[in-house]
Amino acid sequence: MKREYAVIGLGRFGGSICKELSVEGMPVLAIDNDPQKVNEYKNIASHAVIADSTDEAALKELGIKNIDHVIIAIGDNIQASILTTVILTDFGIKRITVKAQNDYHEKILNKIGADHVVHPERDMGKRIAHSLISSNILDYLELSDDHSIVEVKAGKKMVGKTLIDLDIRANYGCNVVAIKSNKDINVSPSADYSLKDDDILIVIGADKDISKFEKHLVIDD
Ligand code: ATP
Repeated sequence: MKREYAVIGLGRFGGSICKELSVEGMPVLAIDNDPQKVNEYKNIASHAVIADSTDEAALKELGIKNIDHVIIAIGDNIQASILTTVILTDFGIKRITVKAQNDYHEKILNKIGADHVVHPERDMGKRIAHSLISSNILDYLELSDDHSIVEVKAGKKMVGKTLIDLDIRANYGCNVVAIKSNKDINVSPSADYSLKDDDILIVIGADKDISKFEKHLVIDD
């Protein structure tokens, strides 16, 4: 049976999750307290209903307890977002993803039992900032508060050298987990792999080590 989703809050973020899940053929219950928003999604989601998600009885009536994964995408009204999270954790929903508006909001959500907190504006800001540092930095993904994965193009300082020449682990403390070369992906590349122009390295490590690696090997002078 297909997993069922509910999206609460149909702003830009919640709305795009709802659209994407629907395009993928997933059943989605779309909820907002703004009738105009709900009207926009009535032909997109499997069901679109007007409800205030801080109203426990209203959520119960919608049968939200039977939904596998609820996404709470209420932005500005932090109080409503927190209250909704508390109600849904009390209901014992298997999976709750909540959009955090700021770091303080994120901390509270983690404490009250949201099992997945997302912070799209902050994460996108970080990714874009890294790509601005060098055109060789292609992507940046946060794994935790202090660890990330970075995808970088082999630049002038790396092409023609083997991984053992560069000794990225000993010199910078991070690990090359894979190398994309044309359409191939080489997971756990061997130490004698010689880097070619246009190779893409996927590197994992502590943020401070990744910074060091970027500064010394990725940013062309
Ligand atoms: P985005 O940046 O994704 O557009 P946002 O961060 O500006 O969103 P808001 O517009 O504040 O977020 O909220 C998203 C949606 O959540 C709105 O459509 C709003 O009507 C809805 N919403 C706010 N509070 C509630 C509530 N208590 N119950 C249901 N929906 C709510």
